This record gives sequence, C-alpha cells and structure tokens, in this order.
Amino acid sequence: MAKTFECSHGGVVCGAKIEGETEEEVLAKAIEHAKKVHGVDLTQSQTLARYAQSLIHEKR
Ligand SMILES: [Zn+2]
Repeated sequence: MAKTFECSHGGVVCGAKIEGETEEEVLAKAIEHAKKVHGVDLTQSQTLARYAQSLIHEKR
C-alpha cells in the first residue's frame, strides 16, 4: 500500500507531497527533501526523525 507524507502536516509552509511504496522509502525521500529544501537534517535528531515518521500516512 502506498504511503504519503505532506510537509504542511508538520507545520511547515510547503506544498511538497512525498509518496512511496513503503514507509522507509517515504521517510528517506522526506529526509532528502528536508535537507535540500528546508536545510534541516532529520537524521541529526531522533525526535525529528520520529516526528517525521509519525506524519507518514497511508495513501487513500
Ligand atoms: Zn517541504
């Protein structure tokens, strides 16, 4: 089942929608996106990484 992550759900003013087949794939893309676009390295913080992971939902 496809998973999706929306930046805006994290309280960020950003229209990015990240999709992938698995949670791991979406998280990896989200980490890359956050680093490139927002200058935030999610891997530097367990809290941030876990928070980002909690924002991943099943695509409807
Ligand atoms: Zn974003």
